[in-house]
Amino acid sequence: MKYDVIIIGAGPGGIFSAYELTKKNQDLKVAVFEAGNTLNKRKCPIDGEKIKNCINCKTCSIMSGFGGAGAFSDGKYNITNDFGGSLHEYIGKKRALELMKYVDDINMENGGNNTRLYTTTGSKFKKICMQNDLHLLEASVRHLGTDVNYVVLENLYNELKEKVTFYFNQPVLEIEVLEDGYRIICEKEEYDSQYCIISVGRVGSKWMEEVCQKLDIPTKNNRVDIGVRVEIPAEVFSHITDELYESKILYRTEKYGDLIRTFCMNPKGVVVNENTNGIITVNGHSYKDEGKQTGNTNFALLVTKRFSEPFKDSNGYGESIARLSNMLGGGVLVQRFGDLIRGRRSTESRMKESFVTPTLNATPGDLSLVLPKRILDGIIEMIYALDKIAPGMANDDTLLYGVEVKFYNLEVSVDANLQSKYQNLYIIGDGSGITHSLSHASASGVHVARVILEDFKR
Ligand SMILES: Cc1cc2nc3c(=O)[nH]c(=O)nc-3n(C[C@H](O)[C@H](O)[C@H](O)COP(=O)(O)OP(=O)(O)OC[C@H]3O[C@@H](n4cnc5c(N)ncnc54)[C@H](O)[C@@H]3O)c2cc1C
Repeated sequence: MKYDVIIIGAGPGGIFSAYELTKKNQDLKVAVFEAGNTLNKRKCPIDGEKIKNCINCKTCSIMSGFGGAGAFSDGKYNITNDFGGSLHEYIGKKRALELMKYVDDINMENGGNNTRLYTTTGSKFKKICMQNDLHLLEASVRHLGTDVNYVVLENLYNELKEKVTFYFNQPVLEIEVLEDGYRIICEKEEYDSQYCIISVGRVGSKWMEEVCQKLDIPTKNNRVDIGVRVEIPAEVFSHITDELYESKILYRTEKYGDLIRTFCMNPKGVVVNENTNGIITVNGHSYKDEGKQTGNTNFALLVTKRFSEPFKDSNGYGESIARLSNMLGGGVLVQRFGDLIRGRRSTESRMKESFVTPTLNATPGDLSLVLPKRILDGIIEMIYALDKIAPGMANDDTLLYGVEVKFYNLEVSVDANLQSKYQNLYIIGDGSGITHSLSHASASGVHVARVILEDFKR
């Protein structure tokens, strides 16, 4: 079977590559290979009753399938070069922003039109943050919400399936370089193409590493972010989330000078499990539909760890810490802030007395047995700093779930077209280590599609 373009991975990167290619050139034969399921068949078996914890399915429905890791996410598209990836370092700041806005327009045309675009520009919170040694980053945020995000994906799929050949439950095992293109090797069949776009996301990080080793594509060591997910009554942060929805706030700790940041804010949302290569960490999302909203807001507090030579395995370091929490709690641990600062573990009975009701069924425990002291000290410092702009943040009943880990793929060596050292082999999205967000991953997909379309014209 021969295609013009084969795309590996149907996350935002792959979807927007396919979208742009087939919208601008209907003659192209495009195939998308996806390890997971179609959108409607993606279902995590955890129901909170019969199945309470992750049972390590063959492919994780939260992370894999049409829509990728973002399918059940909060659908927050951050239009900014300040965070979410370093795409602008490759394609330029102006182009990166233009592409993010282009993606936003497509999302609006496909069901997102009644959603709100929040912005930090001109916000009074910038000053309030600065007065309290906190720093608010510049961004516009489109909040689709989990439900609208799903509708947008459904609409995009309905449009794409008419023009693109999708192979679901088809993990690509290997890529072979041919004289005039690439051979994609799956369990039972092989497929050839002139162009190949790899967009395998975080869940494909190990596979990506193997491909780079085999094809001798240089990679750079990357970072890992480690921390906790905080859950508080929504009122504590509502003055900020009502105006900005998502705020990225930075704090430099007094003790170590480390930078800590808020990440992935979910007003009236829920805390969820995340499974990366069998390791259970924590994440969060929220719904636009008021009927599904909760009384709590959650967000992550993360510390970035970068390692210097000879240590190369930053993800391994993060995994080991996450494994410790899995070992002690059988999954994610939860602790009241009051228990943490008093040096005692949270127990079922202490949790029952708490005024904040957890939205995730996690095991009460002691995060100080899991997180390195430096990271935990930094998180505690930042909670007290945030308490100055959002009183109630440092209450005893503030819940901390651990651990939250943001694994970053090795940064793959690509040029300004996101092309690897092999002609017509492109590596995009989170799988390239260059992007870490829906907007940047999607924009990288449009970018390579346009590069390929130009090439076809010649
Ligand atoms: C719970 C959760 C909430 C999030 N919330 C947000 C948010 O609100 N805003 C935001 O900006 N970001 C959010 N993110 C991050 C965001 O989802 C990712 O940055 C984004 O999905 C990356 O897109 P991608 O296309 O690069 O990769 P992915 O979305 O990870 O997609 C990669 C796809 O490739 C497939 N694949 C992997 N290996 C293979 C293989 N060998 N063969 C075939 N297919 C393969 C995978 O199954 C997957 O479907 C969230 C992530 C999670 C998990």
